[in-house]
Amino acid sequence: MILTITYKQSPATDLGYLLYKNPYRPQTFELSHGKAHVFYPEVTDERCTIALILDIDPIDLARGKKGSSGEGGLFDYVNDRPYVASSFLSVAISRVFGTAMGGKCKDRPELAQKPLPLEAKIVMLPLRGEEGVFKRLFEPLGYEVIYEGIDLDEKFPEWGKSRYYNLTIKGEVRIQELLNHIYVLIPVLDTDKHYWVGDDEIEKLLLHGEGWLNKHPEKGFIAGRYLKRKRSLINKAFERLMEGVIAAEDDGEGLDDTSSNNDLLENESKSQMLENQSKDESIVDDKPERKLNLNQQRLGTVISVLKSANARRVIDIGCGEGKLLSLLLKDRSFEEIAGVDVSYSVLERAMDRLKMERLPQMQKNRIKLFQGSLTYRDKRFQGYDAATVIEVIEHLDIGRLKAFEKVLFQFARPKTVIVSTPNKEYNLNYQKLPEGDLRHRDHRFEWTRSEFLEWADGITNRYGYKVRFIEIGEVDEAYGSPTQMGVFTL
Ligand code: SAH
Repeated sequence: MILTITYKQSPATDLGYLLYKNPYRPQTFELSHGKAHVFYPEVTDERCTIALILDIDPIDLARGKKGSSGEGGLFDYVNDRPYVASSFLSVAISRVFGTAMGGKCKDRPELAQKPLPLEAKIVMLPLRGEEGVFKRLFEPLGYEVIYEGIDLDEKFPEWGKSRYYNLTIKGEVRIQELLNHIYVLIPVLDTDKHYWVGDDEIEKLLLHGEGWLNKHPEKGFIAGRYLKRKRSLINKAFERLMEGVIAAEDDGEGLDDTSSNNDLLENESKSQMLENQSKDESIVDDKPERKLNLNQQRLGTVISVLKSANARRVIDIGCGEGKLLSLLLKDRSFEEIAGVDVSYSVLERAMDRLKMERLPQMQKNRIKLFQGSLTYRDKRFQGYDAATVIEVIEHLDIGRLKAFEKVLFQFARPKTVIVSTPNKEYNLNYQKLPEGDLRHRDHRFEWTRSEFLEWADGITNRYGYKVRFIEIGEVDEAYGSPTQMGVFTL
């Protein structure tokens, strides 16, 4: 399945700025069930076209039974899903063009705000219902609509048409509008969504429908099909549309859509636990497509940095529920491991996770947990080769950072210190996060790359460490990666 977008106004290569995709650099994005490839089949000053091609793995799909017919048997493996423009395309659009969908354009902000002559073509679009739907959906949005049906079998025209079409829409629209129209309307045409439709789909519909859906004469039809005819959801969505309430009004907690065991948590530690459970992924669009686990990438990087620094004794400060500790414990090269956290209830969770009670004595001797704060000088922090402070500093009041610096870099003074923190610039890619908001309720601040760099530079000057930086997670050309990491060495 292919989506192309063409821009024909000189300099047409501005399309690259609008979509944050360099015309001379083909890119591949990993999705849960396959890959999305992005490249430019034509790049001239007068005409520029970008293509997004989806390469869905039917075996992978069948395993998860997502997108399968539900009938089982061969149909789970042999079906149209890998070849058609379905809800997978919408997911890919939000992954690949998320920043542009949010209306952001750092290098050509005025261009993103302007209606431009744009043309989109979608190849192999499945349609449920009669052809008139194309016009009913796209014409009220100001598009010229051209479509061609595809015969079931060209050798037997009497068999009639298949349900697949190639659709072209042309109009003077903002790039953000074009992408959001396509994002919402593809699943409306196809109706066969590959993921579970729940309450959060209303939020997605309203977010991507902002500014146009409540004015669309077919809004009832669109909401009905988008929400898979779930009456309760449609009613809710309709109420919201009628009020014109179009906002992601989640606070940090609402942004979490994976927390299943909140009731187990004590209030005092709830926000910390939410943080640990879901971290940044919680606000990334399209829950079932969320394969890329930022937290795992972060921890994997920490382990490899520690190993290459030859660290044998490691202290994890702000260890949370002990995900890093359990990885360290599994690796024999780490001889002495300590976990510190300010919250006792979080430490209890860590003890459960590590099964401290049942560890063989040899293992028990390698690890210890204790309560402490990284803003108070503490002898117990001394004597380690490396300290890790992963996604913790943003929980400190900024005024306490100076104390933290001294505790760690002046007094504890391990040879290697790894500090990670969110990169605020990347937040623009989180569609559900209102602009300017932080990723989590309990974050006191979040830094841009240059703010982190400035702080890290200060550390190197004041305490004689060297620093290098690592980007973690998918790297956005304009905004960098979701997590930034500094590795300080003496
Ligand atoms: N490092 C873990 C947890 C990050 S969440 C991970 O990457 O998954 C932030 C953690 O920092 C929480 O567990 C919180 O209790 C802890 N924390 C916050 N302030 C702290 C302080 N002053 N000293 C030590 N830990 C602190």
